[in-house]
Amino acid sequence: MALDDYPLRTPVQTCDPLFGAEVRRKRPGIDAFRTLVLEEFKGTDQGVGRQCITGNATSAHHESRAWDWGPTKGEPVAQWRQRATALLAQLLADGPEGAHELVRRFGIRNIIFNREIFSAGKLYEPAPYDGPNDHTTHVHFDWAWPGALGETSGYELGGGVPAVVFPFVATGAILLAMYLSKRRIPK
Ligand SMILES: [Zn+2]
Repeated sequence: MALDDYPLRTPVQTCDPLFGAEVRRKRPGIDAFRTLVLEEFKGTDQGVGRQCITGNATSAHHESRAWDWGPTKGEPVAQWRQRATALLAQLLADGPEGAHELVRRFGIRNIIFNREIFSAGKLYEPAPYDGPNDHTTHVHFDWAWPGALGETSGYELGGGVPAVVFPFVATGAILLAMYLSKRRIPK
């Protein structure tokens, strides 16, 4: 299946945080990605939706287009950070179909981790992140709308393991292979 273009910049416009079953129903892409990461990389779900305290939506969490992932309860942060580094390396790796194949297939616009931001707008080249939270104890993922809604190719492939997967397996990047062999989003 054709590789998706880099996800577009998607300014936050509404204050519409979703929680629980609402996330599963209305953000199927984020929910599938979250399930995959928690199954394969453990750790904890630190939330998708976040209330807008001031009434102004400024974070993708206010629109429920972001997800935070952190260490397993009681786990040394350094241990989790190794898995986070491995996960990011797989997501950002070039694939047989093109550069940064997995993040593009999943429609992830930005990843923030350990004082760095990887943005599709800069072709995921790491840049210093100096926001108020340094993101050393969680990873932030946010999505443009198509990925959040499960409409990019990473959520469409399934029901088998297409040929595209095998080079990933060969390079040790087994994330997509696991994903594809296990699940398909019900439409
Ligand atoms: Zn976040």
